[in-house]
Amino acid sequence: MLPYIANTFPPHCSTCNVTLCVEHIQLRCVRYREERRLLATYYQSHGLPLPQITLLGDEHTDVVDRLMIYLTETNLISEL
Ligand SMILES: [Zn+2]
Repeated sequence: MLPYIANTFPPHCSTCNVTLCVEHIQLRCVRYREERRLLATYYQSHGLPLPQITLLGDEHTDVVDRLMIYLTETNLISEL
């Protein structure tokens, strides 16, 4: 379990006080704002939208590398 997730169901982000979901971790959580900046910069420079569908879809395979960097820098990859 991620250390900042309260022990509740549905999972709850104790940092933002919202229900936790993949989109929250990838795009919204303030805890990862700095780590997300590199991902957002890449998206902007390539004219890509930042919604979750781009992160998880097959259309932009170059995004996978950036997403893996994000997951590594946030240490979220060890929680998967
Ligand atoms: Zn959060």
